[in-house]
Amino acid sequence: MMTVDNFIGGSFVPPASGRLLDDVEPATGGLLARIPRSGPDDVQAAVAAARAAFDDGWARSNVKERADLIDAIADGIQARFEQFVALESQDQGKPRDLARAVDIPRAVNNFRFFAGAVRHDRDDAFHMDGALNYTLRQPLGVVGLITPWNLPLYLLTWKVAPSLAMGNCIVAKPSELTPLTADLLAQVFADVGAPAGVFNLVHGLGPEVGQAIVEHPGIKAISFTGGTATGRIVAATGAPMFKKLSLELGGKNATLVFADADLDQAVDGATRAAFANQGEICLCGSRILVQRPIYDAFVAGLIARAKTWTAGDPAEPGTRVGALVSEAHRDKVASYLDLAVEEGGTVHCGGPPASLPERCRDGFFLEPAVITGLPTTCRTATEEIFGPVVTVHPFDTEAEAVAIANSVVYGLSASVWTSDLATAHRVARDLETGMVWVNTWLKRDLRVPFGGVKDSGVGREGGRYSLEFFSESRNVCIELGTHT
Ligand code: NAD
Repeated sequence: MMTVDNFIGGSFVPPASGRLLDDVEPATGGLLARIPRSGPDDVQAAVAAARAAFDDGWARSNVKERADLIDAIADGIQARFEQFVALESQDQGKPRDLARAVDIPRAVNNFRFFAGAVRHDRDDAFHMDGALNYTLRQPLGVVGLITPWNLPLYLLTWKVAPSLAMGNCIVAKPSELTPLTADLLAQVFADVGAPAGVFNLVHGLGPEVGQAIVEHPGIKAISFTGGTATGRIVAATGAPMFKKLSLELGGKNATLVFADADLDQAVDGATRAAFANQGEICLCGSRILVQRPIYDAFVAGLIARAKTWTAGDPAEPGTRVGALVSEAHRDKVASYLDLAVEEGGTVHCGGPPASLPERCRDGFFLEPAVITGLPTTCRTATEEIFGPVVTVHPFDTEAEAVAIANSVVYGLSASVWTSDLATAHRVARDLETGMVWVNTWLKRDLRVPFGGVKDSGVGREGGRYSLEFFSESRNVCIELGTHT
């Protein structure tokens, strides 16, 4: 059993209060670690350390220094790759195979990508009659990064790398449910000799330490990824202080399958979109809309495919569905299976696994569930469940499919399956989401704008969008006069 400390000013330190929280392993229900239950005093210390690092040099660091540090962090994660894989899987419940294939490589890539992006970045110049304007892009100072439990290192590093690239110093708070790879990342910062205070990590509960970060007047911007209800609190606190806010929030994403789609590919894609990472990805397609001529064949294929995604020990090779992140979350997801029946639906598969290895008997597992027969307006079909549960609904016309997809409060992403190019373009244009995939799902180019519309968030991250968020653009206008 580990005891984790905060990382402030380049040192690992216990919380000022001395209070600790339990960190539970989802696959076993056993105690994995104790982490700091930090409060405003710890946030104050972290902000002071970050500000000192900023004023003492990081603010004036040049692009090469920043990019080299970011590359060194990528190398440091790579050097401890298997340690990160094992810890992410143990702490979050996701299959180790998935952490090895997706989460940890992506964390390395986040650093490599933003090291490259800032090396190749350009500033603007605007020429006008008799004057020249040019843009200075300067760091904000101390930024606050608050992240959720579903992709712990992947999402934290997605914010850390561009913050550093633009010359900011960081106070970060990972989810209290999945703090361990963030702690190991702090160890990597220490290993590579990063300037003290450039990266600070404060562990604890959202309403205590997260809220203290958002409220702190010394923190100029908040990049938050998490639930919509929490995002609303972050916005209500940060907006009157005129902080820059990037809010990446919840989703209830639609997968739209047209009758002319390649059925096998669509079933495969929709299954992965529904159940990858136990359905605990904000981009998961948790509502599948299928055009009526292929509805029965699609549902039969989906149920058959879902039954091959069995829950098992995340540590075992070949496991596709691991444990849900916590007992409370498992119970919440399971409650939607009861609700679906109350709302008139048929649950074809899913729920508590029939058998699990001995080690996992007290873990938080659910098999993937496929539900049909529900109205598209009911709670099960419109609320974010964030687990391995998908509802399937028939539609007749393209307009009806788009209307159903757009009828929820969320607008994060969608995937469209069709062999008709014009259908794909029309539907992509009309969907009210930040991102649309056509005949694929979760294909990510780190340069593209990432973010939601409606209740799925405000702002964009990715490539230059992240570099813009984590910097302040200022303009200098020079009078050129006339020839003498
Ligand atoms: P959450 O909102 O409960 O917590 C997210 C983070 O905010 C945690 O670190 C938490 O401790 C902190 N927090 C809680 N209350 C706070 C407060 N008052 N002030 C500041 N911080 C506070 O979300 P979660 O349950 O950890 O994550 C699941 C949610 O995240 C889902 O809704 C999912 O869709 C969303 N998500 C969105 C994206 C995206 O890119 N849009 C990506 C991943 C997850």
